[in-house]
Amino acid sequence: MRTLTVLGSTGSIGTNTLDVVRRNRQLYRIYALVAGRNVETLAKQIVEFRPQVAAVATPEALARLTELLESSGLPRAEWPELLAGAAARIQVSSAGEVDTVISAIVGVAGLPATYEAIRRGKRVGLASKEVLVCSGKLVMEAVRAFGAELVPVDSEHNGAHQCLRAGNREQVARLILTASGGPFRETPVEALASVTPAQALNHPTWRMGNRITIDSATMMNKGLEVIEACWLFDFTPSQVGVVIHPQSTVHAMIEYTDGSVLAQIAATDMRMPIQYALTYPERAEAPVPKIDWNQARRWEFFPPDMRKFPLLRLAYECQEIGGSAACTLNAADEIAVEAFLQEKIGFLGIHEVVSECLSKMPVRWPRSVEEVLEIDAESRRVARELTVHRAVPA
Ligand code: NDP
Repeated sequence: MRTLTVLGSTGSIGTNTLDVVRRNRQLYRIYALVAGRNVETLAKQIVEFRPQVAAVATPEALARLTELLESSGLPRAEWPELLAGAAARIQVSSAGEVDTVISAIVGVAGLPATYEAIRRGKRVGLASKEVLVCSGKLVMEAVRAFGAELVPVDSEHNGAHQCLRAGNREQVARLILTASGGPFRETPVEALASVTPAQALNHPTWRMGNRITIDSATMMNKGLEVIEACWLFDFTPSQVGVVIHPQSTVHAMIEYTDGSVLAQIAATDMRMPIQYALTYPERAEAPVPKIDWNQARRWEFFPPDMRKFPLLRLAYECQEIGGSAACTLNAADEIAVEAFLQEKIGFLGIHEVVSECLSKMPVRWPRSVEEVLEIDAESRRVARELTVHRAVPA
């Protein structure tokens, strides 16, 4: 039986993780649920999954969670220990009882807790992009030093992880990540200036959190995935290709040195890669639709237009530069996406803010997670100023 801490239990990945647990109660025990501010959902999860510990981001959220549990009817003796803040996240990820941590907090708030889980040699099912994008060198050094298992949850990396099991790593030529192309795949580049947040949030194939959905519309998401893939599988940026595949059914392909290409194919349902991260190296029945091969279907593949999606190109450049460049890229993007969603800047403003922020921030070579968090905070500050200067009058 696996004992889990779920970082980000109230989010899209977190709730899918709990659905996998719900359907396989005999295989998993929840030690801790960690959320930010959505205490309504967390309270329901506590009643259903009975964790030993529940943690939220702030004392205010903790007070509200306490009220909700009081009115839930759950006897006090059956309440979990309730905690708040960054130290609590680390505590529940590194606890001796836990063997597996699902890392699914959006932003860098999940980085220290994920890093500590790795330093304790645990299995980490990794969804949170920021962990490798911001801190890839430190994290992978810790994975090797402490014998942790990092199993990607993101469908593309999960697909690559599966394909890589088929052959020797030395015989791998390159990785190809697929991208849906997002809602603006067929929108002419000239029309992008006037797209609205509602249009950008309308992802054709996946239902996800807001940040990642906008990042899919700009293809920054694929850029961050290229960076993650370089760290996870030890590739140079030029060994990681991106191909638009609107049907999002082929998730990743590995090309071997003899030209043979292996693809991982599955329905678009995050519960499959989440479950894989829990059961690896075994497999189990998953609650996801199977592909019906009796139905005629068309799968298309074409190269991305780097002119239309300049953030993808910028991500490649940042990984080539190394050091803190990718951390700044990610932080600036998060701020710019937030400003776009609040209609403070336009869609094209996201790229402008990110590239300007990168040109203002010196590249550093962080030696600790604390240093990574400092760079992240400074990058956010610079990006926020840039969004203010760029704000479109209401
Ligand atoms: P959501 O926005 O749906 O969920 C984010 C989660 O993070 C919520 O549980 C939220 O809590 C929690 N959170 C945010 N800030 C804090 C904090 N300070 N302390 C504790 N918890 C916090 O995001 P997704 O689930 O979509 O994505 C999570 C991560 O996984 C992202 O990095 C994303 O890029 C990555 N990912 C997601 C995929 C998907 O299909 N959704 C696919 C691949 C990767 P609350 O809501 O309670 O505030």
